[in-house]
Amino acid sequence: MINVGVIGVGMIGQDHIRRLTHVLSGARVAGVADVDLDRASAVAAGLSEGRVFESGEKLIADAGVDAVVVTSWGPTHEAYVLAAIAAGKPVFCEKPLASTADACSRIIDAEVATGRRLVQVGFMRRYDAQYRAMKSAVHSGEIGAPLLMHAAHRNPSVPPHFTSDMIINDSAVHDIDVARWMFDDEIASVAVLKPRQNRKAAAGLDDPLVLLLEMAGGVLVDVEVMLNAAFGYDIRGEVVCEDGVVELSESAGVVVKSAGRHAGRIPTDWRERFVRAFDVEFQEWLDDVAAGAEPTGPSSWDGYAATVVCDTGLAALRGGGREPVLLREQPELYRRAAASR
Ligand code: NAP
Repeated sequence: MINVGVIGVGMIGQDHIRRLTHVLSGARVAGVADVDLDRASAVAAGLSEGRVFESGEKLIADAGVDAVVVTSWGPTHEAYVLAAIAAGKPVFCEKPLASTADACSRIIDAEVATGRRLVQVGFMRRYDAQYRAMKSAVHSGEIGAPLLMHAAHRNPSVPPHFTSDMIINDSAVHDIDVARWMFDDEIASVAVLKPRQNRKAAAGLDDPLVLLLEMAGGVLVDVEVMLNAAFGYDIRGEVVCEDGVVELSESAGVVVKSAGRHAGRIPTDWRERFVRAFDVEFQEWLDDVAAGAEPTGPSSWDGYAATVVCDTGLAALRGGGREPVLLREQPELYRRAAASR
């Protein structure tokens, strides 16, 4: 049984605690920490053996914690991930790995210095059955080489504090990771186009946006990101190859045919759409931890690259042009990890 400590017990922290406690096998939540001690105590009260730690650092250092989950506010991630690396403990960090490229780089340096991967980043779409089937089809060779990907990321609505930066950093970051993972390639440049504003968008919010991602190998990916789609949470994807196309289907569920129409359910939000992906993501991470193996999921390099591409996207949004993505040299540790996948 792996004793997991969770730092940050807000919305997604509590959801991961539910999954670790009631859905998955091989782990128990041994302790929690949060800047809001009352919230941490309330969450711990619902656990059979969960302890409350005064700080994330104390949780990481505790001998009763084998592995760490970081689900606190993004700007706090770097310190906790570095502390877990220093303690030699596996750490699952929700996206973003850290909120600046420099901070991600410091994590990479610390992890590389240990000689082994300890960090996994929470890009859960890689665990979605549809995306996995799409990647298998693209790489099977049966429909030829990929040329283009069309993607759409439509949210029904967003809270009032949502800014145009967050459209890229919080929403499009998932599509950016999917593009890198789908084609096992880096993004070479980003351009951002601004269509007419959705009348439901708050003043000053660039909604929708279209991102154009040019992969180093020449595949072109366009991503529509819409924050006020109203009708539901709608994730689209289609990869166009030389001899065929592969498309995400509508979400799992039944289709009702009646009165000359057919209808199916549209998820209300990302939790509903990706609930299984989160479960698979965590179970695979736990299985790696239990085996004493390096994590096989998204790495610190993936977290770093996503942050650099988001920064580049923001520069493109402000400048209106096509911006090159400038990555540091990839350390051998991550080349080895990618090759073994
Ligand atoms: P949230 O509800 O605000 O929860 C964050 C929690 O961390 C809050 O309880 C917050 O307390 C606490 N916290 C803040 N600073 C802390 C610190 N220094 N040490 C310990 N705890 C601290 O946010 P959330 O929506 O759960 O998001 C958490 C993270 O998950 C974010 O990085 C977000 O991007 C990521 N996320 C990923 C996905 C995905 O699709 N993979 C989806 C949702 C969220 P206060 O409220 O008192 O500040």
